[in-house]
Amino acid sequence: MGNLQFEFDNSYAKLPERFYTRIIPTKVKKPGLVIINEPLANSLALNPDTLGSEMGAEILAGNHVPDGAEPLAMAYAGHQFGGFVPQLGDGRAILLGEIIDCYGARQDIHLKGAGRTPYSRGGDGRAPLGPVLREYIVSSFMNLLSIPTTRSLAVVTTGEEVFRENVLPGAILTRVAESHLRIGTFEYFAVRRDLEALKILTMFAIERHFPGTVGDSNPAKTLLECVLKRQSALVAKWMSVGFVHGVMNTDNTTISGETIDYGPCAFIDTYQSDKVFSSIDHAGRYAFKNQPDVLQWNLTQLAQCLLPLIDERTDRAVSIAREIISRFPEIFAEDLGREFAKKLGLSCDPAAALRIALELLELMSDHSADFTLTFRYLVDAVLGDETTGLFEQQFGQPAAVSEWLTKWLSLVTLENDSLVTAKKKLLAANPAIVARNHLVEEVIRAAEENGDFSRFHHLMAELAEPFKERPDQSKYARPPSQTEEVTMTFCGT
Ligand code: AMP
Ligand code: MG
Repeated sequence: MGNLQFEFDNSYAKLPERFYTRIIPTKVKKPGLVIINEPLANSLALNPDTLGSEMGAEILAGNHVPDGAEPLAMAYAGHQFGGFVPQLGDGRAILLGEIIDCYGARQDIHLKGAGRTPYSRGGDGRAPLGPVLREYIVSSFMNLLSIPTTRSLAVVTTGEEVFRENVLPGAILTRVAESHLRIGTFEYFAVRRDLEALKILTMFAIERHFPGTVGDSNPAKTLLECVLKRQSALVAKWMSVGFVHGVMNTDNTTISGETIDYGPCAFIDTYQSDKVFSSIDHAGRYAFKNQPDVLQWNLTQLAQCLLPLIDERTDRAVSIAREIISRFPEIFAEDLGREFAKKLGLSCDPAAALRIALELLELMSDHSADFTLTFRYLVDAVLGDETTGLFEQQFGQPAAVSEWLTKWLSLVTLENDSLVTAKKKLLAANPAIVARNHLVEEVIRAAEENGDFSRFHHLMAELAEPFKERPDQSKYARPPSQTEEVTMTFCGT
């Protein structure tokens, strides 16, 4: 076995003690490797073969703490479904340390499901296999779509059972992130009126995520503006692929602008703007269409935390913060317009692209069109050949969308050198497949019930090429039938 050396370079562990609790992962019975993300391992200068060895699995299961690690559970608070919880923190996750990757970016190496911590609040500190696999699948897929996300380096089973509504196999996910700072991390110190910690945290976040702004005269204001921009760009990308995060609590809203927490998330099949999947989101707070508003609300919580740092006079701080937050709808509309312009093969201004995209979305909703396939079939519709039918069929009857199609075609023709160029753009902007909920559920069931990971590996192999042409009736491309459709997801924490 080769040498398995993690080149740790830890910065969070050097922050004051009140930012975290040092804690060693709780050993598990029998680590079993499920998968290593090879490209990600390579980017972290970790040999995938060695990582996949028995010793590697011991480390990924938390049974062996590698040299240089300084394991800790981070403290944070958060608004969950609008209600404030002053202390959450890593209740089942342990940060081993940080590695500078081959691109020069600092990455957290974090074991999710690694045992109880002082923040566990009655929880068992463990993770069932199903949600771990979902996180691995969906986060890997988001990365392939170039959507900022925490990454998944590995999955190991623990050889132990976890008790939820059912008895389930336990697993641990190794999560890699530009950081695990959340809006909730700021809320933790703000509610304690710990101004000193807030200042330290602000500078830490800026140096780590927005180094180009170091030296700005008002760091807290800069941070708020930067996080707003990153998160706006992120949620616009989610919306452009029909992604419903499902649990946009402030503790699940990162400072880095990466997607975090793949609990009850799902991609929409048949489009409806108010789609909700999470079994616990009864009021639809985190429905597809509400995501921008929720984000603005979450950013307001961050602004609130930063007020005393923005200006020592509260009235001035409030007016500065308010001005920043009030710009959100405009910034988001532009981000969303830019995403949909790409999907529609247009280069017009984002506002115009958004208008025509919203018209299409309304038709999709009226006629129960599949989100992914509708956009993908624009690839065929653009050349106006007989395959246009595939696009039109999404709407039941072709007439429903013919007016829209004519309007779009004239814009595409106007804005592209040729329709062949337009087709190339559309092919690159609209995935042929997404990690559909019923496919993910099927994988999870086979793994949980029968220890069968072959479906998981198949799905991962398919998802590795999101933009590749698929036969129409390919299991991975087509929408679920009525009996296959999975309309509800469970956090499974
Ligand atoms: P989440 O819903 O995953 O965002 O988690 C919300 C909070 O609950 C975080 O503080 C988690 O660390 C904690 N938590 C979730 N599941 C568990 C568990 N099984 N054991 C301990 N803490 C947990
Ligand atoms: Mg969370």
